[in-house]
Amino acid sequence: MLSLLPVPAFADNYIWLLHDGRDALAVDPGEAAPLRQALQALGLNLAAILVTHHHGDHVGGLAALRAGGFEGPVIGPAGEAIEGLTQTVAEGERLQCLGQDIQVLDVPGHTAGHIAFVVACEPPILFCGDTLFGAGCGRLFEGTPAQMQASLAKLLALPPQTRVCCAHEYTLSNLRFAQAVEPDNPALAARLQADQAARNTNRPTLPSTLALEAATNPFLRWNEPGVRAAARQRAPQPAVSDAPVAVFTALRQWKNQF
Ligand code: ZN
Ligand code: FE
Repeated sequence: MLSLLPVPAFADNYIWLLHDGRDALAVDPGEAAPLRQALQALGLNLAAILVTHHHGDHVGGLAALRAGGFEGPVIGPAGEAIEGLTQTVAEGERLQCLGQDIQVLDVPGHTAGHIAFVVACEPPILFCGDTLFGAGCGRLFEGTPAQMQASLAKLLALPPQTRVCCAHEYTLSNLRFAQAVEPDNPALAARLQADQAARNTNRPTLPSTLALEAATNPFLRWNEPGVRAAARQRAPQPAVSDAPVAVFTALRQWKNQF
């Protein structure tokens, strides 16, 4: 039996913990202290660390964890230079952790070498770092809109019941933007109400599911006529086509100024 929980770090990061009651897997430990506290409180042994990309709020705790006696593997992207990795992986590679099969996906866009991990349990678990957020997506710091749209399409193709574990609690502000794009989407209104209630009692809005993201996340809804129309209206000159990349690009630019 596996348990999945987000450990809050910094102002709005989550370090995801997957554990079997004895051994734990941690994803993107941007700082060591909150992870150590969670492991200690739950009586868990840290067995392995997964890293999605090189940003400091995802790797900043690696050195302290190592110095503190952690001896297990630190597995991260082959396409990025990250100090402290013991193993690099890329698209198509598989790992074994906690007795689970874990699949690696290349998802460039937020950074050039960003990867995601899919744990093949039921329902599956997606650790997507800063690629996909609750009702949003990461900013394009290193990649192109075409890369990010292709990365999001890859994630969208995973089973709908997949649990989506994002590295930041950005859902509420993303939902406000999503409502500006699709004011009449009833699934959005329902999600906003549920997630507002969660945040009011300091509960995480994550993990979500891929089905919920498909219904409410504008950055996955490039095929939706209402989303295309909103993108076109936002960028009339030159007109936005219905091509997924064009719709995605217009939405991302709009969100950057929202
Ligand atoms: Zn990042
Ligand atoms: Fe981040």
